Amino acid sequence: MELETIIGLEIHVQLDTKTKMFSRDDNDAWGAGPNTRVNPISMGFPGMLPVINQEAVNKGVAGAAALGCKIEPFSKFDRKNYFYPDLPMGYQISQFDQPISSNGKVEMLHQGKKMTIGITRLHLENDAGKLTHTNNGTLCDYNRAGTPLAEIVTDPDLRSPEEAQSLAKEIQRIMRFVGTSKADMEKGMMRFDASISLRPIGEEKLYPRTEIKNLNSFVSLLKALKYEQKKQKKLWAEGNAPSNDSTVGWIDDKEVTKTLREKESAMDYRYFPEPDLPPITFTEAEIEEIEAAVPELPLTKFERYQDQWGISEDNALKLTEEKKLADFLETAVEKGADPKKASNLILSVILADTDWRHSKVTSEHLAETLKLADKGEISSTAAKEIIKKAMESGESAKNSKAVEDYSPENPKSLQFLMGMVMKKSQGKANPPMVVSMLKSKLG
Ligand code: MN
Repeated sequence: MELETIIGLEIHVQLDTKTKMFSRDDNDAWGAGPNTRVNPISMGFPGMLPVINQEAVNKGVAGAAALGCKIEPFSKFDRKNYFYPDLPMGYQISQFDQPISSNGKVEMLHQGKKMTIGITRLHLENDAGKLTHTNNGTLCDYNRAGTPLAEIVTDPDLRSPEEAQSLAKEIQRIMRFVGTSKADMEKGMMRFDASISLRPIGEEKLYPRTEIKNLNSFVSLLKALKYEQKKQKKLWAEGNAPSNDSTVGWIDDKEVTKTLREKESAMDYRYFPEPDLPPITFTEAEIEEIEAAVPELPLTKFERYQDQWGISEDNALKLTEEKKLADFLETAVEKGADPKKASNLILSVILADTDWRHSKVTSEHLAETLKLADKGEISSTAAKEIIKKAMESGESAKNSKAVEDYSPENPKSLQFLMGMVMKKSQGKANPPMVVSMLKSKLG
């Protein structure tokens, strides 16, 4: 019997906000001491009242719209009750039957082939704290308690662990691109639960699935799914296909899964509407505005850079990794830079500096420098040097060129630089003094 694999993902991404989902304590706890980013709301003290963080809602719907989801005019929060030491409130505030968005789709490239994967929903909720198990007991750090999350649930459209990994990477790229989440795996800002089952090819119905909880890297996502796929294939071959849903955890160092619970003991969360929070509502005009704000997505840019500009696949991938970078290139092109030459300069000079995000170089610098190189006024080596300097100084190519061109026999460049000084000093500098200072600096 030939079997096919059915996989669906639940992806939690941490929303990139200043404060938590329902309280004003700092959402950035990276490197902070345990339990220093908490307040009575995130600690669930009696009498506390949560307040919805508008920034979290904005970032959530921006992500939802980028995943092609329909933004709901009316949604609400619900209490999801369970008791565990990482959850000080005794319940999570999530969205149950009326999520903020649903019915989306994501395009992704998988092994060179374009695929479309359905998105069931994206909803908002808060995170739990973090437990560290030691030989002397369990330590609770509630810095993460209350952190805003978007939970993205995919349709069971994936047919292999590799496809699941490709989708996870594409969703990370999109979330970063629209600023919904930094989605930094090392900081736990993106985590996966993966459900997998098998079925005989040609059948429509879904068989009982295994859910693998809390995978926190692309590698463990792939390895855990491959492990469960192999295990289930064996069970099917033995005529022993799983008859119940089950939940397992992935043991990273042993590379095996461990059963957490069978269906018989499945959690009953006793969901009910959160009485302390109003519903979230959007007018049709607001929804249209959110949808109109979705930028061109990285995959579309990746294809366009290749088709329209002849940029190589590798380079197009690097340039669409971050919106800031893609915007930088596109603005330079708008200002008249040749796309291929501009992307080469970006990749060879700007990205070579790991601190490029803080550099002062602008798209205007890049376009201006490339124009001078095109006209043959500067060499390509000089162009690289100018951009390198501009990254630190923020100075334009014209200034750098004037400095480069300076010689006592070239009064034009001296005049130009002097003009710059006079402009900067708002006409207050003493001209003869400026000339002598420039001459001594440049000479
Ligand atoms: Mn969740």
